[in-house]
Amino acid sequence: MQDINIKANLHSVLTNIPDGVDLVAVSKTHPIEMIKEAYQAGQRKFGENKAQELILKAPQLPDDIEWHFIGHLQTNKVRQIIPWVNLIHSVDSFKLLQEISKEAVKANRTIDCLLQLYIAKEETKFGLDLKEAQELIGLFRTNQLRNVVIRGVMGMATNTEDEGLIASEFKALKSYFDELKAEFFIEGDKFDTISMGMSSDYELAIACGSTMVRVGSLIFGARSYPV
Ligand SMILES: *Cc1c(COP(=O)(O)O)cnc(C)c1O
Repeated sequence: MQDINIKANLHSVLTNIPDGVDLVAVSKTHPIEMIKEAYQAGQRKFGENKAQELILKAPQLPDDIEWHFIGHLQTNKVRQIIPWVNLIHSVDSFKLLQEISKEAVKANRTIDCLLQLYIAKEETKFGLDLKEAQELIGLFRTNQLRNVVIRGVMGMATNTEDEGLIASEFKALKSYFDELKAEFFIEGDKFDTISMGMSSDYELAIACGSTMVRVGSLIFGARSYPV
């Protein structure tokens, strides 16, 4: 294993994060020993992007960990993650939200969800545009889906060195959040989360209005295989 001081890494990231912004430690591909180290240093929110990996790791780790699902989620994988997951960042269709609701009702759990919006100038990223997000929330309302709460939005900026481009994408996500909040939610609704920012851009994301950053490699080191 690489020589990595997880506790020190965690603390240096936390130093850059103001009150009111949550840190999700992205532990995908890393072994449970490393997650335990972060847990012992006080971290409670962890992010995984594969259903199979989440359901393998979660049962071996303390109950008070809050698991975040941050990867693309297929409807046929929903059932297996429902017992473990607290917040799904990657809702990108009404069909997926319906499935989450159905399985959450069966499991007698309530699952928080974010709508993944497409902000990058890249073909490969998943997500909704603003109009699709508005339609999805409309359907969510008229169908009165139970046991799911739409808490906000998530987005991923273009993978580029161009900070100006990244900042403009983050600002777009913040403005989509503001529009959706104004159109569909009232004061007191728990529509309060903007998940944006990763190791390379979390400080910029916070400056642009992020309330939740997803940081992996700065805490756990480089991943040994690409995902
Ligand atoms: C892997 C991943 C991250 C963390 O990436 P780092 O660059 O290691 O911080 C954040 N968000 C999503 C959706 C990811 O898949």
